[in-house]
Amino acid sequence: MSYSDYEVVIGLEVHSELKTKTKIFCSCTTEFGGEPNTHCCPICTGMPGTLPKLNEKVVEYAIKAGLAMDCNINEFSKQDRKNYFYPDLPKAYQVSQYDLPLCYEGEIEIEVNGEMKKIRINRIHIEEDAGKLIHESGEGSIVDYNRCGVPLIEIVTEPDFRSSEDVRVFLEKLRTILLYADVSDCKMNEGSLRCDVNLSIRKKGNTELGTRTEMKNMNSFNYAVKAIQYEAKRQIKVIENGDKVIQETRRWDESKGITVSMRSKEEAHDYRYFPEPDLMPIITSKERIEEIRSSLPVMPDSRVRRYVDEYKITEYDARLIAASRNMADYFEKAVIDVKNKKAVANWIITEIYSRLDEEQKEQAKIPFEPAVLTELVNLIEDGTISNSIGKKVFAECWETGKRPGEIVEEKGLKQISDDGQLQSLVKEVIDANPKAVNDYLSGKQAAIGALVGQMMKATKGKANPKMVNELLREAIGKLNN
Ligand code: ADP
Ligand code: MG
Ligand code: ZN
Repeated sequence: MSYSDYEVVIGLEVHSELKTKTKIFCSCTTEFGGEPNTHCCPICTGMPGTLPKLNEKVVEYAIKAGLAMDCNINEFSKQDRKNYFYPDLPKAYQVSQYDLPLCYEGEIEIEVNGEMKKIRINRIHIEEDAGKLIHESGEGSIVDYNRCGVPLIEIVTEPDFRSSEDVRVFLEKLRTILLYADVSDCKMNEGSLRCDVNLSIRKKGNTELGTRTEMKNMNSFNYAVKAIQYEAKRQIKVIENGDKVIQETRRWDESKGITVSMRSKEEAHDYRYFPEPDLMPIITSKERIEEIRSSLPVMPDSRVRRYVDEYKITEYDARLIAASRNMADYFEKAVIDVKNKKAVANWIITEIYSRLDEEQKEQAKIPFEPAVLTELVNLIEDGTISNSIGKKVFAECWETGKRPGEIVEEKGLKQISDDGQLQSLVKEVIDANPKAVNDYLSGKQAAIGALVGQMMKATKGKANPKMVNELLREAIGKLNN
């Protein structure tokens, strides 16, 4: 028996904080950080006698996220209490949704190793976040309620993943979708996107699900991937040893690189869900749902298709740009007045991306407007400047914010396409480089490169390379006669 006889089966529960300004049931700020227990009021700390009032934006954002994932929306939805005690949960229950979540039955398509795959979304419901326990060594634990009542959506998938790679690709895509929909910041380092990983294994060919374990609160894609790889092997070993996998919650220990048991099914909570009596059902009309749908931007997949089909950009490059909504918007503005759309994409992927870190790419933190890139590309397209001069102009635009045309004018960077001027230089270069000329004449095509290089050097890169090439070949050809 070997690992390859088994199949890994994974389902995810992803929590994402919604980017509303205020909390789900009160007007306290949702801002991250802040002095402990300063973003709180009697409602979000669960004082007796207070009443929650649902923030409408939470419903709007959750429906928006659902529509972005092709979910159906429940026009009649309700909230429920999930009861458990923990010090970070002052009410001793979490308001969540049990049997009538806002969104159900959606899907996200992912591409893994060239294969398309549909991951079904079982449901998306809204709920409130809990506070944070801070464990001070030797001093016990202290609690910060600032996060209590920050709105969350929980996205529950069907067990459709078969590898850690599936999960990684899915999480990245999900993050892109949430950012496009503009409903969450998805900052993993601030815990605004985190997931629980449910994992079981089974013999290949079996259709029944095996017993699963759950790994909670993975707040990094890399940890999730490592935890999955470890846990799958662990379960296979258990089975191979003739034992049974125990249904339990496990924790990923990053420093040791292993998962450890936290609590087993026997200790699992019975949450005694019941309808939240202090809140009205959430009723959403078809018209309202359509209104929210129309507020969604064009999603990444359709943008990629358009870039490939209409702009003749490779799918790979199209995905690099569409990965960020801001960058895609920037790109779409920059190409409006350009014939060669692919050239614009190239500038973004090479010169722009090499100057930005991941976060800056996401925000399209570019010091000039799209029209500047348009202008630059057109200066190259119409032969005013060469591509290599274009790079210098680009660098200067980046630093000074000046327009490309202005820089070209100021520095006299216009491409030399003047026949007479180039002809006399060609003669000089040929006279000064007899060896390269002979090499070329004896059949070494590559030798022409050295001569072109000399020409470019002599003109500080301003010669039109295509013309230089032609003039050189012509002149050397004449020598031979
Ligand atoms: P619970 O109510 O205990 O949270 P759910 O049925 O809602 O359980 O499932 C939670 C998550 O676990 C879902 O993402 C689901 O796809 C996944 N899941 C359920 N059973 C299995 C299994 N045997 N192996 C892997 N994942 C599973
Ligand atoms: Mg669950
Ligand atoms: Zn409050």
